[in-house]
Parts: sequence; C-alpha cells; structure tokens
Amino acid sequence: MREDLLREAELELQETQRRNEETALRRRQEVMNRSPEIASLLAQREDLIHGTMRGILQREAAPEDLPERMEQVSQNIRKRLKNLGLPEDYLAPVYDCPLCRDTGYVGDVVRERCACVRRRYQARLRKAIGLPERGEETFETYDETLFADTPLPDVGLTERQAMAVIRDGCEKWANNYPAQIPRDLVLSGKSGLGKTFLLHAMANRLIQRGYNVLLISAYQFLETARRAYFDNEAQAEDLTGAEVLMLDDLGSEPMMQNVTIEQLFNLINERQRRNLATVISTNLSQEELRIRYTERIASRLTDRRNALFLPLRGRDVRNGRQG
Ligand SMILES: [Zn+2]
Repeated sequence: MREDLLREAELELQETQRRNEETALRRRQEVMNRSPEIASLLAQREDLIHGTMRGILQREAAPEDLPERMEQVSQNIRKRLKNLGLPEDYLAPVYDCPLCRDTGYVGDVVRERCACVRRRYQARLRKAIGLPERGEETFETYDETLFADTPLPDVGLTERQAMAVIRDGCEKWANNYPAQIPRDLVLSGKSGLGKTFLLHAMANRLIQRGYNVLLISAYQFLETARRAYFDNEAQAEDLTGAEVLMLDDLGSEPMMQNVTIEQLFNLINERQRRNLATVISTNLSQEELRIRYTERIASRLTDRRNALFLPLRGRDVRNGRQG
C-alpha cells in the first residue's frame, strides 16, 4: 500500500461523510421550518431515545411498548413528509456507501477496510502510475480480433491465436502473482502489437488484487539512472524496492555510455536478488537485447529460470484501439 494515497482516499471519504452530514442537517432544518408538527414529532422521538439511554445507564428495563411507540412516531413523521411532497426517508441518515455508511470500515468482529476505500485508493494508484483512471485497459477489454486471422509462418497459429496465447500468459501471471514462476515477465515485439495495453491490463489486475505496482517508461528509467550515476547516489529505492516494477518500452530510450547498462543491470540484479517481480516490455528481440545491453543483462531477462519471455508476432494494430 502507498500510505500517502491511502491517506488521501481516507480523507476523501471523511469529506464525503462531512458533506452528507451537512445535507442531513440542512434537510432537518428545512423540514422543521416547514412543519412544526414534524418538529414536535422529532422532539418526541428524541425524548424516547434519550429516555431509553438513561434507563440503560441506570440499569432499568426499557418500557415494553417502547418499540411500538417509536414506530408510531416514525410512521407519523413519514406520513407528514409525504404530505409535504417529500420522500419518506428524507430525514434518514445520508451516506454514499451503504456498506460502511461512509465510515470506511465494515465488520463488527474483524474490522476491515470497506470496498469503497479500496476503490478510491486504487483509482489514485492508477492515476499516480499513469494508468487511465477508469482502468479500461484490462484483460476484459482486450480485443484480439484486432489481429488478423491469418497464419503466422513457422508457428502453426494465426496472429489472432498467437495473441490470445500471449494474453492468457499475461493474465495467468497477474492472477498467480506473487506465486508465479518464473518471477519476471518480458513482452518482446515490434511497436503497435499492444504491449503497453497488456502491461496496463496486468497492472490493473494486480492493483485490483491489492498489490502495489510502479509503472515507468524507459525514458523515466534513464532519467533516474542518470541521476543515480552522476550524483553517485544509490539507485532510487522506489525503483529497486517497488513491489512490482513495470518498465515500458525498453530499448526506446537513448543509450548513455556507462550509465544505461550499469544502472539497468544494478536494477534488475538487485530486484532479482530481493525476489521482487519486474515486468518489461521491449521492442527488441532476445538477440537485440544481447547486442544493446550485453549478455549479462540479456540472460537475466531471457533465462527461463528468471523470466517468462513472451515474443509477440503480428502486424501493427495501432490504427485500432490497442496502441
Ligand atoms: Zn464503504
């Protein structure tokens, strides 16, 4: 969990709660101004409640007919609200979330965070790492029919079938995390085959499942690497320590002598040493990775024990939805 984002989500809920309480008070005031009868009924109901509370504190049994008397007053209030042309529940507590009544927690015995807080948190996390806020790039919205149903040479599958296999591989990986073997995943293929879409779909699934994802572009990586190299500081802990790190479009960044390779190796090596999962998309093939980043980096990304290497094949579909 990113504590800062969780805090924001909780503050937003508190703000909702405050606004709803205000609405409830305003309604009450409005009704009392319009109808002295309801005002007196509300006072009666409060007297009954207070009387009961006092009774409990003084260990007295509540009057037997109390529930009926309460119900009678409530019925009376509802009837009069209706006569004023207002909904019967106009004076009921107002809240956005019926599960937790905007308290943020559910459960009497085991208190846990309500789904509404998790939703607010996840929306913030998606925004913070650059995913579309509504999370529409998902496995559910992945459309393999964008790929041609024509056979790929030497594969025995059509483009569309091959993409379905890749999609399933990614979804399985995201569903099995953190028990997936191998730990890392590399999507390799030309531009326009939907690698970024798949990365986003994996990120969305992991976030939905409650995991923390950091998604950065290869350019952003290089920026961090450059700072780490020249300022001689340890590589930013948010990259090396991220629960799941997704590095998009490796190979598209400029190559900086001494910097790129050393820092990339440090990053991958340190994350593998700490047993943290990394997902990379790249426009480079295994061979091209080796040439550009040296053998020792390529082997970390292509060795079966370290990474699931998924080669995407097919034609550019960037004119379609999946860029
Ligand atoms: Zn809730």
